Amino acid sequence: MFISKSKYVAGCQCPKILWMDQHMPDQFDESVMNTAILTTGNEVGDLAMRYFGRFVEVPYERGAYADMARMTEELLAAGEPTICEATFMKDGCFCMVDILRAGADGVDLIEVKSSTHAKDYHLTDIAFQLWLVERCGLRVKSASLMHLNPEYVREGELDLKQLFTLEDVTDVARARAQEVPRTVQELTRLCEQPTEPDLPLGPQCSSPFECGYRPWCWRDVPQPNVHQIGRLRAARAWELHEAGIVSFADAAAAIQAGALDLNPRQVDQVMAEVHQLDDVVRAEETRAFLDTLAYPLYYLDFETLMPAVPPYDGMRPYQQLPTQYSLHWQDAPGAVPQHAEFLAEPGLDPRRAIAERLCADIPSDACVVAYNMAFEKARLRELAERFPDLREHLMAIHDNMADLMVPFARGSYYSRAMQGSCSIKHVLPALFPDDPELDYATLKGVQNGGQAMDAYAALADCGPEEAARVREQLLRYCELDTFAMVKIVDKLRHAAAP
Ligand code: SF4
Repeated sequence: MFISKSKYVAGCQCPKILWMDQHMPDQFDESVMNTAILTTGNEVGDLAMRYFGRFVEVPYERGAYADMARMTEELLAAGEPTICEATFMKDGCFCMVDILRAGADGVDLIEVKSSTHAKDYHLTDIAFQLWLVERCGLRVKSASLMHLNPEYVREGELDLKQLFTLEDVTDVARARAQEVPRTVQELTRLCEQPTEPDLPLGPQCSSPFECGYRPWCWRDVPQPNVHQIGRLRAARAWELHEAGIVSFADAAAAIQAGALDLNPRQVDQVMAEVHQLDDVVRAEETRAFLDTLAYPLYYLDFETLMPAVPPYDGMRPYQQLPTQYSLHWQDAPGAVPQHAEFLAEPGLDPRRAIAERLCADIPSDACVVAYNMAFEKARLRELAERFPDLREHLMAIHDNMADLMVPFARGSYYSRAMQGSCSIKHVLPALFPDDPELDYATLKGVQNGGQAMDAYAALADCGPEEAARVREQLLRYCELDTFAMVKIVDKLRHAAAP
């Protein structure tokens, strides 16, 4: 088995991941893979290569690492100053250095990351590279992480020197490199053992990455368990787990014995599950929330893209770009809702068009409901800042918002089917368990926010027929988000009626 830098990082998260990769790869749950993150990484990596000007790239060929390493040696011998994907192999280990800067007195290693700051496992990654490059006989002068600069605001052409931040991590990488030979030896030995390693579950199962082998390793852990208690810190859940409080029955017994202190919402969740309780409706609290809503009442939901590299002026890395909204409104409680929607043309800056349509669709004195309104408010503020002529109207919408998540976040309405979550994706099926009209699973193609982002991003490359089909899927998905809010308000009104 070859140990690459990504396998080394995975082995440092949990050595058993490498054993499973080797002996039971079929147990890997592919749903943990995020193709959008991989695509973003490629886009950022391609831009980073141009940071130092002219460069040569060692072409990637799966499995042909010896050829890639040989080519790297030739490029170094030829005096190439900047080599991308420079490949090194020795003693069962190999790595591709994103950017290698070579000089007469040694080399500088640069690892490119699409995040906006350095993370601990990035240091593990670059420490492995530093160790291997030196094992291959080169002198490493420095090791750096190149990541996106969260402060960069695009104006005109991309400025690569501003888009990226270069962080020197030589000292910490060199210190960690000392642990690499022993870790490599241990990982190799573990992978060679024929029986499944008996390693305890722990925070490593979801940090720094969600492990794809959880369904296998966690098969005997009771459901639900303390890791599913809403808003309970992961570290606290692991303390309970290690103390033998794992199932909700364990947690309920500990609560009753005074040995476990949870907040009232968490207690509601545990007790509702253990005793299979009916929905809890705190009618006065619910009515107090409903009394804050004024009619005609508007329900608003945005869909966005979150591009790593800012595509338009005035944008920062990973700034949300609104591309779509759905709007329902009712003239009176229980009235038939009306609907409007907006979906931007792909490839064009959507901000002006969306801002104008919002101002046309929503009166400036209207009460507007959003679910988890901080998100919608932030988009409105950004649009208002961008377009001073529309600022007054957009900020009036912003200032007249009510958050439909509040009664669920406060526990004014609790159903055990919400599983401790107040997100609309949990609340809606809990309130309407058998209504296909309110079931995201019945939608074609786009059933969640992540799929909506992917579908919109791919729209520019679709032919006309495919584009029309995807646009329809995006519109129906977003429409359900606001129609769901209409139905939730109706449901709250009935549930809290005196
Ligand atoms: S689920 Fe946990 S114990 Fe199992 S391989 Fe993954 S990290 Fe290791």
